[in-house]
Amino acid sequence: MLKNKKYALIDMDGVLYDSMRYHTKAWHQLMDELGLHTTREEFYLYEGMTGTDTINLIFKRERGYTVSPEQARELYARKARIFIEYGSKEVMPGAQQMIDNLLQAGIRCVLVTGSAQNSLISRLDDDFPGAFPHDMRVTALDVTHGKPDPEPYLKGLAKTGVSPEEVFVIENAPLGVRAAKAAGLDTVAVTTGPIPRKAFEEEKADLIFDSMPQFAARLPELLN
Ligand code: MG
Repeated sequence: MLKNKKYALIDMDGVLYDSMRYHTKAWHQLMDELGLHTTREEFYLYEGMTGTDTINLIFKRERGYTVSPEQARELYARKARIFIEYGSKEVMPGAQQMIDNLLQAGIRCVLVTGSAQNSLISRLDDDFPGAFPHDMRVTALDVTHGKPDPEPYLKGLAKTGVSPEEVFVIENAPLGVRAAKAAGLDTVAVTTGPIPRKAFEEEKADLIFDSMPQFAARLPELLN
């Protein structure tokens, strides 16, 4: 499935960084402060959505209304500050090996993240030198619709200038897989969090790996 590929569109949280447990903790704390009932686990399922979409999903459910764009911006900024307070986030074990194996096989990389969290995006140059040129990044700031809408991956595809058959996606979230498949792209899911494999099968991921080191190790053979 990965033969003849030229580009990989790569998600950030849960793929390049082991950051999802901090995101879910930060979301849960924010909602707690607002007196809104949520569970930490549910935020794993919303991964990929924009901050505004996540905030409005909870407000609609718990209060029956959505918030103004200004309020959503303030709340997302608060969530981002809580996320930073939890300290520095680790690179996903196996992610640097994965990127090295892609680059060695001549695959070029595009970042496609639903995040606007600059505390991680600004680290990419240090943690993955040369892998993600600045004009090859799609973040939450570049899209109108977040995942699971196909827009982020369609924008990523447009940056490559090649046909969809020559591109594949690397994701860790069910909504991210849904967005990638809706964009018509072959998609590899790596289950780096607590969401069971079944959820990725239901979203029609083309390949599913149980860990990043496992996927990284298989890459040279899959690409040749
Ligand atoms: Mg992710």
